Amino acid sequence: MSHLSVAKFGGTSVANFDAMTASANIVMADPNTRVVVLSASAGVTNYLVELANGCTESRREEILSAVRTIQYSIIEQLQQPQAVSEEIEQLLQNISVLANSASLATSAALTDELICHGEMMSTKIFTQLLNERNFPAVWVDVRDVVATNSQFGKAAPNDEKTQQQADQLLKPLINTGKIVITQGFIGRDEEGKTTTLGRGGSDYSAALLAEVLAANDVLIWTDVAGIYTTDPRVVATAKRIDTMSFNEAAEMATFGAKVLHPATLLPAVRSNIPVFVGSSKAPEQGGTWVTRDPQPRPTFRALALRRNQVLLTLSSLSMLHAQGFLANVFTILAKYKISVDVITTSEVSIALTLDKTGSASSGADMLSSELLDELRQLCHVKVETDLALVAIIGNNLHTQAGVAKQLFATLSPYNVRLISYGASTNNVCTLVQNGDVDSIAQDLHSALFE
Ligand code: ADP
Ligand code: ASP
Ligand code: MG
Repeated sequence: MSHLSVAKFGGTSVANFDAMTASANIVMADPNTRVVVLSASAGVTNYLVELANGCTESRREEILSAVRTIQYSIIEQLQQPQAVSEEIEQLLQNISVLANSASLATSAALTDELICHGEMMSTKIFTQLLNERNFPAVWVDVRDVVATNSQFGKAAPNDEKTQQQADQLLKPLINTGKIVITQGFIGRDEEGKTTTLGRGGSDYSAALLAEVLAANDVLIWTDVAGIYTTDPRVVATAKRIDTMSFNEAAEMATFGAKVLHPATLLPAVRSNIPVFVGSSKAPEQGGTWVTRDPQPRPTFRALALRRNQVLLTLSSLSMLHAQGFLANVFTILAKYKISVDVITTSEVSIALTLDKTGSASSGADMLSSELLDELRQLCHVKVETDLALVAIIGNNLHTQAGVAKQLFATLSPYNVRLISYGASTNNVCTLVQNGDVDSIAQDLHSALFE
């Protein structure tokens, strides 16, 4: 088969008629792009999550009207609005019914059923836009392809079943010259219920589909022209990285660079599928290629920022019981499906942050009172909030002389709550005050990258 690319367009790339037109132009100009994965139009998923968490009748009406306005501002500019308006009305009606149910009693399954509607609407409209331009686009319900377990809000794909369904449904369409337009973010469990892969999960969907289709690459079209040395919205002098390794990109995504969902790299690494990141508004600017082994690999690659982190400090109540303390703590955290992120330890206490990346779709708080109660039976628990993680990502950071000196010198004016250095050769993590994160990012960027 000739070159096959799976292209994914994020929320801002399908936010309004002009953005959708720019994205359509990219699809039409590239004969390799034969599967297109879309997010919901920007803002829609946030509104749907709010509905799913339950709200008052007046707020429900306000949100429904806002979502309707976002979608109709696009539909009204189509040549034949009536070709999709009936379907969109039906989807808006579903949203309204589900939102009423959620206001009475919400559940993780109901949340996923509700929030999948954002992707359903954007894909219907985009398919119509392409069809009006005589392009052979066909709409596919991705739930017929992406099979998952039943962990609503952050479901894990069933690779085997997804492969089978892709072979049966997607490959024949592609082979007959159709361009598949489908949803990111969502899937279906064994019982036929809608699931979601976690916020920002459309990138992951695109990589999964690329893997089962044995695609040559994944093209992530977003609102920035590639992956930068840090978030270009925080540090204006951030530079685009033209090529980087899967490992480097995975570290960046894990530590908060929102430009790629952290799970995106799993299928890409497994099946060695290059990932491109570029701007749908300015495709001519090029972008970043993430591949297995690009050279060179600089000592300092990027800074990743993650705000609103929670630090848990757990101190053993008694030295006598300190034996097995860590094991007990981790058993409890595992029971609540909490993945520990950055950690430092002393003889009787441990400080750790919780990994919130790729968080569940409902945005539910990970630190439940049940979890805290259980930990309190074992140890003294202190919870600190209003912190931010700044991760320095690089290569062989532990073998380079002077790395620590450079970091400490730059961070000296700030209150640093925690540093984790030495466990990974690819990152040094610091936990600082939320309010300091922008200026720390700027100072570190100018010290390490400029
Ligand atoms: P999409 O809706 O297309 O998935 P996202 O908002 O999820 O887009 O991701 C793009 C955003 O990621 C950018 O607007 C930028 O602010 C942010 N970002 C964070 N870190 C980086 C980085 N290192 N390079 C580029 N963008 C970054
Ligand atoms: N629409 C979903 C979200 O906002 C998925 C995505 O955009 O990747 O999280
Ligand atoms: Mg995203």
